[in-house]
Amino acid sequence: MADRHVDALIVGGGIAGAACAAALHEGGFDGHVLIAGREPDPPYERPPASKGYLAGTMDRNACLLHDDAWYARQNLELATRTSVMKLDTAARTATFSTKEVVEYGVALLATGANVRRLRVDGAQLDGIHYLRALGNADAIRADAEEAEHVVLVGGSYIACEVAATLTSLGRRCTMVMLEDAPLITHFGAAASGFFTDLLRRKGVELVTADGLERFEGEERVQRVVTASGRTVDADLVVMGTGAVPDVMLARSAGLELGDTGGVACGADLATSAAGVWAAGDMCEYDSELHGRRVRIEHFEVAKAQGEAAAAAMLGERRPFREVPYFWTDLADWATAEWVGLSEDAEHEIVRGSLGDGEFSVLHLAGGRVVGALSVGRGDDLAHARRLIAEKTDVAGREEELARGDLEAV
Ligand SMILES: Cc1cc2nc3c(=O)[nH]c(=O)nc-3n(C[C@H](O)[C@H](O)[C@H](O)COP(=O)(O)OP(=O)(O)OC[C@H]3O[C@@H](n4cnc5c(N)ncnc54)[C@H](O)[C@@H]3O)c2cc1C
Repeated sequence: MADRHVDALIVGGGIAGAACAAALHEGGFDGHVLIAGREPDPPYERPPASKGYLAGTMDRNACLLHDDAWYARQNLELATRTSVMKLDTAARTATFSTKEVVEYGVALLATGANVRRLRVDGAQLDGIHYLRALGNADAIRADAEEAEHVVLVGGSYIACEVAATLTSLGRRCTMVMLEDAPLITHFGAAASGFFTDLLRRKGVELVTADGLERFEGEERVQRVVTASGRTVDADLVVMGTGAVPDVMLARSAGLELGDTGGVACGADLATSAAGVWAAGDMCEYDSELHGRRVRIEHFEVAKAQGEAAAAAMLGERRPFREVPYFWTDLADWATAEWVGLSEDAEHEIVRGSLGDGEFSVLHLAGGRVVGALSVGRGDDLAHARRLIAEKTDVAGREEELARGDLEAV
């Protein structure tokens, strides 16, 4: 027996959940909407946790997606520090950590992702941090005040961003990564060469093509030992070792899961349970654009999926066709923007000048543009987005793509 009824239940107070609530309101949804979120903070932007908020140039309030008045104005109920422990999709009820049982009309699962933890010797030592929430950034910043040697484990954007932020705060940073070069997995070889030079020039030491073996120290971490036997001094470690979709609730509710560990969804983001949609980092959807199921961990995609789920709840079920967009800031040194999916690329075309720090890289596969990166060339990014969305055939037009006007392609 339920304690009460809500018309729309949103599980997870990240950008996907908050965007769904906002879009429901804007779309004229007149029922009661409840966001249940595990974290102590109201919905906030996660990206500053490795950038301005970590640097101390942006405060907590500036990270919040909305102020208190917004939630009141929207006649929306926000329950923070509240986990949904159980979902019964046949009875359409959710059991909260407060023991309350809530019956829902429609539901959105937007439970996001958790950090990928590495179980190596010494992993329990003090001074080793993961970064997902603002609270993690608080702890890293506090530890960084005393730290002399910081090690970032990982070669992707979190490790690069934290290395840039902490280097700007005057810390000596070393990155230890499995990859041959930073950001190469997402951005490809050409852009990765640019970021390798940039990081080194700013004083970040790079240990590449080498794994993490163990941590050493008494109570606090003192050294990182790599797979090749190299030892790197460290009194602060930040792990940038990826994220795994949080599907604990979905799995226990019996929802179908996908190949990348997310919740399997149709093109319209509907899950295998009637009346339940998914959005954000844990949503693995049938992408018409990519011709397969994909799961994307980008802020703007999570936002757009929350909005698309709201539209579906309002009766507008459409395939989600958004071209994925992502950005990363390395302190005030450089901002890179990305559209598309990088994993498909067979060939890269560079436009502009890597040396001058103003360039774009088009990623091609099967005679089409499948992804593009821009540092300071926003127009190229906009054209690439169009070419990706329209699946334009560019076979044999490499010269034009490299030196021509993209508007004409
Ligand atoms: C440090 C950092 C920097 C980033 N920088 C960028 C960037 O520069 N550009 C970019 O595009 N992307 C960036 N991202 C990725 C981006 O922030 C994510 O893609 C986005 O936050 C995903 O939103 P979400 O709503 O799906 O999930 P989340 O933001 O993870 O929110 C999910 C929420 O659900 C809660 N939850 C989980 N289970 C339950 C439950 N059972 N009951 C109640 N609540 C639950 C979680 O506690 C969490 O608060 C960054 C991520 C991190 C961690």
